[in-house]
Amino acid sequence: MPSTPQKSALAFSRHNHQHCEKTLLQAARTLCEKRVVRLTPRRQQVLEVLLSTHQPMGAYEVLSTLNRLEQNVTPPIVYRALDFLQQQGLVHRIESKNAFIPCMHPGHGSEAQFLICSACERVAELENTCQLFTSEARELGFEVSHAVIEVSGLCADCRK
Ligand SMILES: [Zn+2]
Ligand SMILES: [Zn+2]
Ligand SMILES: [Zn+2]
Repeated sequence: MPSTPQKSALAFSRHNHQHCEKTLLQAARTLCEKRVVRLTPRRQQVLEVLLSTHQPMGAYEVLSTLNRLEQNVTPPIVYRALDFLQQQGLVHRIESKNAFIPCMHPGHGSEAQFLICSACERVAELENTCQLFTSEARELGFEVSHAVIEVSGLCADCRK
C-alpha cells in the first residue's frame, strides 16, 4: 500500500476546477494590466483552452479545439498566442511532451518544476522553486536563464 501523502497537489486532487480556471484567468488579466501588455481576445482564448484541463496540450490540440468553436484559426495564430503567453510566464512548455500547460503561479519567473503523472497525464507545478539547484549553479559561476525540471512518475491517485 502506498503511504498516504501529507499534501495533495491541486492538479492531482478533486477540486473545483471552475474556480481554478477563474482565478488563473483573473491573475493573467491582472498581470498583463500591470505590465501594460495586451491580453487580446485571441490570446485569452488560447489561455482558456489550456486552462480547461490539468493535462498539457499540444499546439495542434489547441488549434483543433479553437476550430471546433469557429473556423479559420490557423497554426500561426495559435503559435503567436502561445509565444506571447510563454513570454509573459502565463504558460509553460513541457518539453518532454512538446505541450503547454498554464502556469499555476503566474509571475514567478523563469524557474519551474513539474510533476508529470505518466498514467493520467496530469501535471502539477510545484510551488517552491529549485533554489538549491540554481544557487549551486551560481556558485559555479553559471548564469541560469531557464531552469525547468520535469519529473515523471505516478500521482497519488494513480498509485492506488
Ligand atoms: Zn483545476
Ligand atoms: Zn509557473
Ligand atoms: Zn495520475
